[in-house]
Amino acid sequence: MANQTLGIDNNLRDYLLSVSVREPEVLTQLRHETAQHPMAIMQIAPEQGQFMSLLVQLIGAKKTLDIGVFTGYSALVVALALPPDGKVVACDVSDEYTQIARRYWNKAGVSNKIDLYIAPAIETLSNLIPTEAETFDFAFIDADKSGYNDYYECCLQLVRPGGLIAIDNVLWFGRVADEEIQDNRTKKIRALNAKLHQDARVNLSLIPIGDGLTLAMKR
Ligand code: CA
Repeated sequence: MANQTLGIDNNLRDYLLSVSVREPEVLTQLRHETAQHPMAIMQIAPEQGQFMSLLVQLIGAKKTLDIGVFTGYSALVVALALPPDGKVVACDVSDEYTQIARRYWNKAGVSNKIDLYIAPAIETLSNLIPTEAETFDFAFIDADKSGYNDYYECCLQLVRPGGLIAIDNVLWFGRVADEEIQDNRTKKIRALNAKLHQDARVNLSLIPIGDGLTLAMKR
């Protein structure tokens, strides 16, 4: 499942969570509400959220992108890690899912840090490029897999040198490693993984947390 780390058994995962995750109550409530949702598999794991929070703090991020909001966990975990004048530009096409997100952002008191754009992310990102290129510190890509390559290319323009692009679901439930699986989304992720491996514009690491998280630091 995408909402927990692949490849470790439940017992070990429970232990990992018990000694590492310090999830604020508002995030726990959001995670539990999202678990009841038919698309709950799109929710990121709490250990991944906390890892992203740590990354954002490590690089001193103030301005970030959240591409694929769903019920708002990743935008919220990042917003909570940003300084008071920090900003998350959040992109999603679903007004329905993001109503849940907005409710929790309000509850957590960080709505003022999050600008939500309900539109195809490629439009929102393209509109930002002329005026906000190289002004973002961090970007999280977790939207439709068919758009991943375009989102990555836009993020490379929007993130500053030394900034970080995090790309979710790059292990795709293990399907990327099974050559018999040739559906469109699997092929898109496989192609992006191969491209990133050779991409001299970034420094790279693929972390096996959640469903696989690639970290690409813009050079
Ligand atoms: Ca995801």
